[in-house]
Amino acid sequence: MSFGWTRHAADGAARAGTLHTAHGDIATPVFMPVGTAGTVKAMTADAVRSTGAGLVLGNTYHLMLRPGADRVAALGGLHRFMDWPGPILTDSGGFQVMSLAGLRKMDEDGVTFRSHLDGTSHRLTPEISTAIQDQLDATITMAFDECTPFPATEPEVRKSMELSMRWAARSRAAFRPRTGYGQFGIVQGGVHPELRARSVDALKPLGFEGYAIGGLAVGEGQAAMFATLGSTVPLLPPGQPRYLMGVGTPDDLVGSVLRGVDMFDCVMPTRAGRTARAYTSGGVLNMRNARHSDDGAPLDPGCPCPGCTRHSRAYLHHLFRAGEILGPMLLTWHNLTYYQSLMRGMRAAILDGGLAEHAASIRAAWRASAGPVEDVLLPDQERA
Ligand SMILES: [Zn+2]
Repeated sequence: MSFGWTRHAADGAARAGTLHTAHGDIATPVFMPVGTAGTVKAMTADAVRSTGAGLVLGNTYHLMLRPGADRVAALGGLHRFMDWPGPILTDSGGFQVMSLAGLRKMDEDGVTFRSHLDGTSHRLTPEISTAIQDQLDATITMAFDECTPFPATEPEVRKSMELSMRWAARSRAAFRPRTGYGQFGIVQGGVHPELRARSVDALKPLGFEGYAIGGLAVGEGQAAMFATLGSTVPLLPPGQPRYLMGVGTPDDLVGSVLRGVDMFDCVMPTRAGRTARAYTSGGVLNMRNARHSDDGAPLDPGCPCPGCTRHSRAYLHHLFRAGEILGPMLLTWHNLTYYQSLMRGMRAAILDGGLAEHAASIRAAWRASAGPVEDVLLPDQERA
């Protein structure tokens, strides 16, 4: 099966489609759980599949440092290593180099950095990042780009975007075409519409199989992010998938699907699950809160996950209070199930032509039942 994306329906700017890959088809819009180091934290691969997830993300930076891309390749690639025969998207490592690595030295060719694990020196260039993603057997390879710091001045953002566009061309040249595999270019340019437009113009002739929008959810706020999507997304080729990197809260996902985004990844549902925060159809709840201690009701009625069908809010509360490892496991399971249900519901609404009404009813339910202390969303800069 050759790599591609088929559009089945559009509703305003929103689209419902199918992504075709060597490792299976994926319905879009889609949320990808983050499997940072070859595992979606606290979840078995079967558990991740049971949430409805079909496509997961792996991190080049983490995997190159430990266990090493050579080792993963020798053991049969990342699909086999982590028991995920379905499609895997790997990021390029650029974001983690900026956010995690010690002592970095940037030059035109790439970046040299020290591992946050043991201080050893490593180098990433567009060619090295692309080769590592090939070794991992990524279904979708991401172009290597510079993660523009935020805040930054317009000239700084321009300089960074232009470097990323030169690196995008080198990433594309280094990509080894294989049937059913694809590579995405990444649109940069901060919150500046004219820089975003120039970035799109630079990427289009390179012939990527899809386009990511990078450099958002880094502290600019939801209004600026939506405004940037509103000006950038219409410039992208209509027949190819669009991926908003590192986003976001359920409300971010709804607003971005409405603006024409097809793919998302974020650590929020998994990280929140490990810290007792539950995303539900009734808003965000903190399961450590004492008000759950005698509550025999399910966390989210109607949710098919084991945390909701077989346990009570009181039990989940108890697990977190007692420091039991099952608490993070069940709540991660729930949050990923909720995110998948959210995406499935939006896809069905797009196919029915009723996404705007559906989005309004989802948001109304969050507002109506969120608790006074608990309707606090995680900061939108949280990423892998
Ligand atoms: Zn649940």
